[in-house]
Amino acid sequence: MSEKKVVMVTGAARGIGKEVALKFAANGYDVAINYVSNSTDVETLKKEFSDLGVDALIEKADVSNSTEVQDFVEKTIEKYGKIDVLVNNAGITKDNLLMRMNEEDFDRVIQINLKGTFLVTKAVTKYMMKQRKGSIVNISSVVGVAGNSGQCNYSASKAGIIGFTKSIAKEMASRNIRANAVAPGFIATDMTSVLSDSVKENINNSIPLKRMGKATEVANLIYFLGSDESSYITGQVINVDGGMVM
Ligand code: NAP
Repeated sequence: MSEKKVVMVTGAARGIGKEVALKFAANGYDVAINYVSNSTDVETLKKEFSDLGVDALIEKADVSNSTEVQDFVEKTIEKYGKIDVLVNNAGITKDNLLMRMNEEDFDRVIQINLKGTFLVTKAVTKYMMKQRKGSIVNISSVVGVAGNSGQCNYSASKAGIIGFTKSIAKEMASRNIRANAVAPGFIATDMTSVLSDSVKENINNSIPLKRMGKATEVANLIYFLGSDESSYITGQVINVDGGMVM
């Protein structure tokens, strides 16, 4: 069994997930991450963790596929013997107005964002319950709190994550397992890089702090919620959004 603490972060080959995994690694955690895209450069990624002294487990696994999730979790347990912190980060968008949104795009977003969170949490809590300790951080979004035109599938998935988080926080508290949700606002990653400059400018103007957030600023909050520094916090949704929703 690893003498270090162990964090599992889903969808962590880039963006917020990668910053989260690097933050935990820099703070002495062993790390297990997954990705789904064939273009992921696993060797370069491995080196970024080994530069921090961490022999990371990096697996290809689709969070919406229960067999692949089970396999990823079992490999993590084989390598490290435990999982102290789970960060459900993997997520996608497929935006459109309700009238133009097809059933396939609605289902896919729910399957990855919401069902993926359920599948990974279920597989990991089996081990956390035996350990009688654990911390789960689920990545929601401010649009799961406030809604957003053109994102009915995505905001439904992110609102679902909030209900899911509060339910498992109640279910798992007696086993000393905490669960919280983080709701990022407008963060500079591949997910938001597709927006036009004029859309970005409009959004920036609507944010009290007048800028996009950085993935590291989200990672700082996730690290706090995963660690024992937040030992009396569970069932909460915390925005990290420059004041966008208050
Ligand atoms: P991103 O840069 O697009 O990265 C998404 C990550 O999720 C990638 O690593 C991707 O893997 C992974 N992923 C996608 N589908 C997957 C699947 N089926 N199985 C496993 N992994 C999968 O996005 P991001 O901005 O970092 O977003 C991270 C999380 O924060 C998401 O849940 C997102 O909804 C949430 N969020 C983001 C913002 C924002 O403004 N950026 C705001 C609020 C909430 P590959 O690299 O292999 O493709």
